[in-house]
Amino acid sequence: MAQPLPPATIAAFAAIVGKDHVFFDDADQLSYQDKFAIDDALHHPAGAVAPATVEQVQAIVRVSAERGLSLWPISRGKNLGYGGSAPLLAGSVVLDMSRMKKIDYDEANGTVLLEPGVGFYDLYDFLKSRGMKHWLSVPGNSWGSVVGNALDRGVGYTPYGEHAARICGIEAVMADGLVVRTGMGALDGAPTWQLYRFGFGPSWDQMFVQSNFGIVTKMGLWLMPAPESLMGIDLEFDRPEDLGPLIDAIAPLRREGLLQQSPTIGNWLRAAAVVTTRDQWTDKPGALADDVIAAIRKKFNVGWWGVSLRLYGRESVNKAAYAVLEQAMGALKPMAMRPTSWKAGEPMEASGWTGTPLTMPMQNANWHGGRGGHVGFSPILPQSGAAAMAQFQRTYARYKEFGMDYQASFAFGERHLINVNAVLINKDDPALMGRVDPFLKQLIADAKAQGYGEYRTHLDYMDAVASTYDFNKGALWQINRKVKDALDPNGVIAPGKSGIWPTRKAGGRA
Ligand code: ADP
Repeated sequence: MAQPLPPATIAAFAAIVGKDHVFFDDADQLSYQDKFAIDDALHHPAGAVAPATVEQVQAIVRVSAERGLSLWPISRGKNLGYGGSAPLLAGSVVLDMSRMKKIDYDEANGTVLLEPGVGFYDLYDFLKSRGMKHWLSVPGNSWGSVVGNALDRGVGYTPYGEHAARICGIEAVMADGLVVRTGMGALDGAPTWQLYRFGFGPSWDQMFVQSNFGIVTKMGLWLMPAPESLMGIDLEFDRPEDLGPLIDAIAPLRREGLLQQSPTIGNWLRAAAVVTTRDQWTDKPGALADDVIAAIRKKFNVGWWGVSLRLYGRESVNKAAYAVLEQAMGALKPMAMRPTSWKAGEPMEASGWTGTPLTMPMQNANWHGGRGGHVGFSPILPQSGAAAMAQFQRTYARYKEFGMDYQASFAFGERHLINVNAVLINKDDPALMGRVDPFLKQLIADAKAQGYGEYRTHLDYMDAVASTYDFNKGALWQINRKVKDALDPNGVIAPGKSGIWPTRKAGGRA
């Protein structure tokens, strides 16, 4: 457990938010810790305080600054695999903004202004009650917050799947309590806050993403107009080496914009890890053997790799684009090619493709049974079949060497790939747990040797990943530290997030 806070400090928080919204006993500490952490003790919070308004956030920041405390802001704290609701620095106070749930919807322009507590299910229900004129983009774990996910650069399945790229205007409370609005929001009363992303002068929305420079209290987001038609193909490929040609076939379609959504190529474990557990397949330790992989593939009728491609918009346009997709994919000779189509008015499948919130993929945390979880390793690669194949071979060999079951995907962005690897864990298996940290460190080092860096990481690896971004002796981190020192020299807000520490707290865990 973390050191308890002095009763007077807890009373000061309670005076701001009410006694029902301060959480500082042992059970509270446990409920805010990271359930998936390799070592929970590193991230035990002192407790949590849950404001309902921006003014309360400001007051909490002031109390924390006066008393030398660090806050760890979370929106809904479902960032599982990256730290969940837990702070990087043990003893921090979690600032839980899940009570702040306002939604402002501009239906004519297709934008929302959201408070951090709005979950994907909340926004989905809200849009449904207004006739679903706009669709969401949801991540694989839609339990969390729309704002929190965009702030950690989460991704989804539709053309709006790069969530951080759809942010338009932020309101944030700074470490000195100042409230700022970015972009057009800096112009008091501007009706264009959610319409023009850049404002006048430097554009600072992205400064609050994956950072600790401020506490985001409102975020503008663009929503996708509900399409008239959705068409696509689900494909399966038989051999590991089919990955390279598949990437080289999809990449130009993605770059020219024929394909506007970002497909994800995933391996054979994706279904099995969600609807079965490992002991149903084998009792042997170490990476799954080829005969087990073959049995899994047979049962779920899947390839070594599978991918789903989707087209959104006008039906006439989709039909023309579909013909191009079909030809490009057919040329690759997939083992299965299943077309799918939907038109407005028809019953809609509940899936990530239709922006319906889902939590099913999280079930893979139960693959090993016990106190399960997963930790991500996600380097950014160029959109090159050869580069992806080499990365796959290197990583898969490491999975075997460390005795881990391979669950991986290659997710397209507009110009890049994210190679998302889930490392499935069981905290009740000490032998497995003993391998996880050396394995992840090895993967980070292997990627760095190729010039690849991760796009997002667990609390435990933020410093390690930051240190791989090392051009000119880590000049970028010197800048980040200078900004942190200027805005928050005492580290009131999330010290250590993304490897950014103020000088006075440097070495906190750096
Ligand atoms: P989700 O519930 O969508 O998974 P989280 O609330 O867990 O999102 O947020 C993910 C991460 O983003 C947090 O660990 C924190 O570092 C950061 N974060 C979340 N909300 C805020 C916020 N309102 N202001 C600043 N940083 C935030």
